Amino acid sequence: MVRSFVTPTVVVSRCIEFDHCRWNGDMITSHIVDRLKEFVDFIPVCAEMEMGLGVPRDPIRIVGGKAGEHLIQPATGRDVSDEMTLFAESFLDTLPPVDGFILKNKSPSCGVKEVKVYAGPDKGGSIGKTDGFFARAVLARYPDMPVEDEGRLRNMRIRDHFLTRLYTFSEFQTVQASERLNALVRFHSENKLMLMAHNQTLEREMGRTVANPDRIAPALVLERYREQLIHALSTAPRYTANINVLLHASGYFRDRLNHEEKAFFLDAVQKYREGRVSICAPKNILKAWIVRFGEENLDNQTFFAPYPDQLMELDPLDLDRGRDLWT
Ligand code: SF4
Repeated sequence: MVRSFVTPTVVVSRCIEFDHCRWNGDMITSHIVDRLKEFVDFIPVCAEMEMGLGVPRDPIRIVGGKAGEHLIQPATGRDVSDEMTLFAESFLDTLPPVDGFILKNKSPSCGVKEVKVYAGPDKGGSIGKTDGFFARAVLARYPDMPVEDEGRLRNMRIRDHFLTRLYTFSEFQTVQASERLNALVRFHSENKLMLMAHNQTLEREMGRTVANPDRIAPALVLERYREQLIHALSTAPRYTANINVLLHASGYFRDRLNHEEKAFFLDAVQKYREGRVSICAPKNILKAWIVRFGEENLDNQTFFAPYPDQLMELDPLDLDRGRDLWT
C-alpha cells in the first residue's frame, strides 16, 4: 500500500513560517505549513512587503461604505487599494502552474472570508467580514483551486479535505498534461472509492465520461472529467458516505474473516458513526486486511492514502505526549 505522490506547488503567505514580514516584524508559526515544506514546492509571497509598504509598517485595514471597500493605512491616511490590486494581478500573471494556496487568516490582504471591515479608518468596531484584497484576486483567478487559510487548516476535517483536493488535483494535472485516456482510466480506477465517498452520483457520471462511448477527442474527455472532478471534490464527504464506502470495501473480505474480526470492524465503524473515533480507526483495520490478504482491488485505492502518511499526523497541540498532566 505504498503510494508515490506528485509534489504539488502551493503559494503561501510569506509570514507563515517563511519570513518576519508582518506589519510588526513577526512571523506566524503553523505546524501544517512547516510539515508541508518537505512535501510541496512552496512559493512564498508577502503582498504588503512586496508592494513597498516595508517592515515594520503601519497596519492597514479594510474600510467599507457606500463607495465600496478600500484598503486604508489609518496612520498615514493612504488608500493602497489600487496598488494592492495591481500587485496581486501582476504577481498572479507571473505564476507557474500551481495547485493551491495557503493564506494568512484575518489579514486585510491575505485573509479569506473572515477579514473585518470597518466603517472608517479610526478606532471602532467592525461592521462586517469579507475577503482580503490579495485573497480576492486569488479567488477570482483560481475559483476552482484549493484555497485555505492557515487558521482553518488547524481543523482536522478541513485539513484532510484541503490535502485530499491538493494531491488529487495535482495528480490529475499530470494526467491531463499527458492527454492519454489510459492514464485517465487508471486515475479514475484508483480514485473510485474516494470519489464515491465525496459524491456517488458524480462518480458514476465520471465513469461514463472515462468510458467515452461517443469516441470524442481525448483532450475534450479530460477537460470534461476535470470539471466533474472539481465539482465532486468541492465539499468534504459526509460521515454517512464514508461509512458506506467502508462497508463496501469490507465486502471484499466477507468470506475470509471470522465472526470476531467482522464484529471488531463493525464496532470501529459504529464508534466512528457516533463520533467517538476518527475514520482512521476503521480505515486502519481495512488497511491491515488489504496487506494480509493482498487484496489487489483495494491496494491502490487513494481512499486509504489520499496524501502522504506523514501529513496525517495530528497537530502537536492536539497531543499530550511528553506532558505529565498530573504534576
Ligand atoms: S498576511 Fe500576507 S500581506 Fe500580511 S504579512 Fe502575511 S504575507 Fe504579508
